[in-house]
Amino acid sequence: MAKITLDNLAHSYLPNPTGEADYALKELNHDWVDGEAYALLGASGCGKSTLLNIISGLLHPSQGRILFNDRDVTNEPTAARNIAQVFQFPVVYDTMSVRDNLAFPLRNRGASASYVAERVQAIARMIGMESELNRKARGLTADAKQKISLGRGMVREDVNALLFDEPLTVIDPHMKWELRTQLKALHHEFGHTMIYVTHDQTEALTFADKVVVMHDGRVVQMGTPQELFERPEHTFVGYFIGSPGMNVLEATVKGDHAVIDGIELPLGGRYEALSGRVQLGVRPEFTRLTGGEDGLAVRVKRVEDVGRHKVVRTDFFGTEINVIMPEGAEISPDMTRVSFAPEGTNIYADDWRVTPSGPANGGAA
Ligand code: ADP
Ligand code: MG
Repeated sequence: MAKITLDNLAHSYLPNPTGEADYALKELNHDWVDGEAYALLGASGCGKSTLLNIISGLLHPSQGRILFNDRDVTNEPTAARNIAQVFQFPVVYDTMSVRDNLAFPLRNRGASASYVAERVQAIARMIGMESELNRKARGLTADAKQKISLGRGMVREDVNALLFDEPLTVIDPHMKWELRTQLKALHHEFGHTMIYVTHDQTEALTFADKVVVMHDGRVVQMGTPQELFERPEHTFVGYFIGSPGMNVLEATVKGDHAVIDGIELPLGGRYEALSGRVQLGVRPEFTRLTGGEDGLAVRVKRVEDVGRHKVVRTDFFGTEINVIMPEGAEISPDMTRVSFAPEGTNIYADDWRVTPSGPANGGAA
């Protein structure tokens, strides 16, 4: 197991990159703490696989270094890095039995026959394939083959890190939940450093202690699920995490008030003069729909019942503002105003969150 350090790392697939836009991975400095379980979350094409393949050594970065426990491994091949990586699609030896597929990484390292037998049995139990150990991999479903790939990734206890690149894509939904639970159990048992790539926020938030959110080749935030929810450092995090995501509105800010369409809205903190494009972000959980004359005038478009609560979708001059209300809440036609709980507001300048300079004084702007 190892701490993994990314030092000044960047990657371009082009031979002669000229500007930032040419980099699939923009410059990055980051520590992955030894023994933690991370999710690497972001939309398709944002650079997740590029980053993972650089860590495992499948890809050589065009800039920067990778350190395992402070030892530079940038120029070491994958085999020397002692890493297990599981990909989106199955990688199995078709002519071998399930048992031999699972045993392969251990035998390759010269493990004793008794240890191999014991470990293969334990992994087969985790992936639910105990009764199929003697079958050839050929002829198994894609789903079963991917379980073998996962098992092969998990079989060695002595790896520096376990890397998973969207490993449950071809697995059916029920089994997904089951396998994710097994991966968490494995992490508890062995405390491997784990990096789990996904574009699915639910998968990320349920699997990991820390979620690393990527957007457009950049790590925009790393935090606990709660931190990502309460203080999105970038508008993308607010929008990508949460269901529905954060409401984001153009605003001007004066001290501890935002002004939108001439309406003053109290904020949770006080801000100095801001430059760039200023926006107010507030989650639907902190947004209220009321009658009366206060707040922003909206048009209710639709009410969605989603079990434990209602999602009210409203329109504010072409911008959607979503409101989460309790299951039993009544929504009457005169409710055409939205307002925000000040403590749930965040202010963004050019998409990055601005730290308030002090508390709100709840009065003069
Ligand atoms: P993700 O895994 O988040 O979907 P990738 O790391 O695969 O994203 O891709 C990041 C960017 O790099 C994308 O724009 C993709 O088209 C580009 N890219 C990925 N692999 C290659 C490659 N081998 N050659 C050129 N461009 C690539
Ligand atoms: Mg990918």
